[in-house]
Amino acid sequence: MAKKKPVAKATKKPVKKATKKVVKKTPAKKVPAKKVTAKKVVAKKAPAKKTVAKNLLSDSLLELIRKTSAEIPDDVQKVILEALEREEKNTTAEYAMNIIKANIDLAKKKSQPLCQDTGTVLFYVSHPIGLDQEKITKEIHKAVVKATELGYLRQNSVDSLTGANSGMNIGLGHPSIHFHQHKKKNIEIKLMLKGGGCENVGAQYSLPHTALEAGRDLKGVRKVILDAIHKAQGKGCGPGVLGVCIGGDRGAGYIESKEQLLRKLDDKNAIKELRELESEIVETANKLGIGPMGFGGKTTLLGCKIGVLNRLPASFFVSISYMCWAYRRQGVELGTKNEIKKWLY
Ligand code: SF4
Repeated sequence: MAKKKPVAKATKKPVKKATKKVVKKTPAKKVPAKKVTAKKVVAKKAPAKKTVAKNLLSDSLLELIRKTSAEIPDDVQKVILEALEREEKNTTAEYAMNIIKANIDLAKKKSQPLCQDTGTVLFYVSHPIGLDQEKITKEIHKAVVKATELGYLRQNSVDSLTGANSGMNIGLGHPSIHFHQHKKKNIEIKLMLKGGGCENVGAQYSLPHTALEAGRDLKGVRKVILDAIHKAQGKGCGPGVLGVCIGGDRGAGYIESKEQLLRKLDDKNAIKELRELESEIVETANKLGIGPMGFGGKTTLLGCKIGVLNRLPASFFVSISYMCWAYRRQGVELGTKNEIKKWLY
């Protein structure tokens, strides 16, 4: 029994002393604390170059959205002014075209959206091999949110089941981003803002079409395109431009028809038959008398662009995307720091 007492005392003493030493050491660190902090700040400044590159991408994307929303590209403005000249004086058609022109001028001057509906936001990113698409997607999302806060874009994207609006234009499938790999060194980003009214008058036909007597050939294609224009009757805020795809499956056909709208209005189709069909469709449509906004007149269509995709022997689709007069598309080529090096339209 006498041996147990010293064992208990020896265990307690060293434990208490050790605890006190730790407590004393803590305040002693406060003195050099400023030096440590200063070193950390210097360390954080090191990756500043990366931050600069990111900022330029975000600035470039924001400027791309602003300009697309507020300014009609030159090639589109040119055909709108030609259409205004063509309309007879003191007619409702001329009045409509004058309002369109005034709208275009005012939006550019005030840097405000051309139309209250800033549309579906469609990005087309062409990039060299090895681009981190996820990073670009994140930057695009950030720019879209910022553009919405700044009023370049309307709060325009809603949940299809609940109708809830996130208020930021971000959600499933929106914005729509299409990536393409190309052999150039620089990234090119194109943007299209496609209004809902004109999207509603888009159409897809499966040939042969018995009611229209449209077979599986270019004559049949012509018939269904003219049928779509006739059915629209100026709805979708005409005069507008058609993007058409012959062939493909139903999904690819619509995607290609929209990509045709990325072409400049004054370019020439490399395929002779399609080049002729494009001109003939515009000429015929403008003789239908539907006119701007369906008020009657000489301008129903400003342009028609037709592409072609292979199809299954069993299918023959003609997909038509209609773009209203508020034809908002722009594009940029980015430089090494993701700055805007060149405007594409
Ligand atoms: S169809 Fe075009 S012009 Fe008409 S409301 Fe929509 S975005 Fe505006």
